[in-house]
Amino acid sequence: MQTLKLASKIMGNVFYYSGETPGWAELEAVKKNRQRILVVIKARWASLALMAFYGVFLRVVYASQSDVRASQEQELMAIGALAFVATYNAWYHFSYRWWGRIRITNDLQLFFDLLVITYLIHLSGGVHSWFWGMYVLVTLEASYLLERKSEVWAIGACGGLLYGGLLTAEYYNIIPPVAMPFENASLQHDFTYEMITWGWVAVMNAAVALVGTFMMGMVGERLAELAQRGVRDELTGLYNRRYFYHRLQGEIERCRRYGRRFSLVMIDVDKFKNFNDRYGHVEGDHLLSALADVFTSTLRGSDAMPTYELDISCRYGGEEFAIILPETESETGVDVAERIRERVITKAAVAAAERIRTEVASMSIKGRSITISLGVSTYPVHGEDADALVRRADEALYEAKARGRNQVVLAPHDEKPETFL
Ligand code: GH3
Ligand code: MG
Ligand code: MG
Repeated sequence: MQTLKLASKIMGNVFYYSGETPGWAELEAVKKNRQRILVVIKARWASLALMAFYGVFLRVVYASQSDVRASQEQELMAIGALAFVATYNAWYHFSYRWWGRIRITNDLQLFFDLLVITYLIHLSGGVHSWFWGMYVLVTLEASYLLERKSEVWAIGACGGLLYGGLLTAEYYNIIPPVAMPFENASLQHDFTYEMITWGWVAVMNAAVALVGTFMMGMVGERLAELAQRGVRDELTGLYNRRYFYHRLQGEIERCRRYGRRFSLVMIDVDKFKNFNDRYGHVEGDHLLSALADVFTSTLRGSDAMPTYELDISCRYGGEEFAIILPETESETGVDVAERIRERVITKAAVAAAERIRTEVASMSIKGRSITISLGVSTYPVHGEDADALVRRADEALYEAKARGRNQVVLAPHDEKPETFL
């Protein structure tokens, strides 16, 4: 059991989803990860171009000063290192869509960059090299691109440790240091000097990690707040109509790709105009938010990461609501036959709608009971695009109104809606 927990924890750290059908949130996370990976790849192309330009520039400036110029061997090694980075960047660029589903791709990429930077530092004089600034650059990049603060600290620490490791290896001549023009070669074997330089680089790297993670926290909170504001309805706290269509589209794509099902429930408050006329709009608004609470408390939810909300309740407009009910493994089982699966998911949706209806019907506001009518449609039985699914659920809802309200109606396979009571 303990091993299983540990294994799933490791899996969660490495992948966004394992072999099973991914959820919408997981697919969204993969999409974002792909974008982040592409940013690293593009940033690497830019730094490679700048470094190549810098190298050629120096070569031209020092063309006639053979005592200052790098040896041919050094030049070849530097070109080799850059060609190596260009090759793996091209390979990442070609395959990043695949790498996108692996959460730690950017951590690995940045670590790989740190290795190459350490090699360049060695080539350019170890303790004398100016290339240590690139460790700081990678730490900064990490705070912009990685998801967790601990990962940024880990990348920062890796930079510091690699630098310290290189200086130590050069000090003990395990890796013989490369002599630099203008620089005092004996300092490459001076322990105090090496320690002071290492300390400075480590402090700078830690300072950037500190500032970077601080900004990460601040920007993250602000973005989350803005994102919530953009997708939530102010009165009820449910998702708004725009987000409803966004999720509906996402759910359709996910289900099409993985052969899954989901249902849609459209809800309209019965005789709400009368309620407003009698008690006023303010009381009407209270009623709407009370209804929203009933929807969310009656439906399934999950605490699993990342922010899984199994059922998505939205305010479609005015006193109309829409709920997306994705199929779950527990309710349908994985290996039931297609037709049975279709029925099971539809039944589960109708049952959920029924639960909401009875819950609302038993509610009393201002001593008056309030009822709702509900229409249900299922993907792909009733339609394969958002408009068709909403239209079919809406038709079922109006059929519920026509049949006397306070009931759930499932959209029929063909024309006539059937009552479920
Ligand atoms: P039924 O649906 O059962 O046919 O009757 P109804 O009276 O509910 O009819 P309809 O759905 O057409 O009524 C919509 C009413 O909802 C009109 C408006 O007064 C009220 N309404 C819409 N949005 C809001 C809102 O945000 N706050 C309040 N208080 N009322 C709203
Ligand atoms: Mg209405
Ligand atoms: Mg109404």
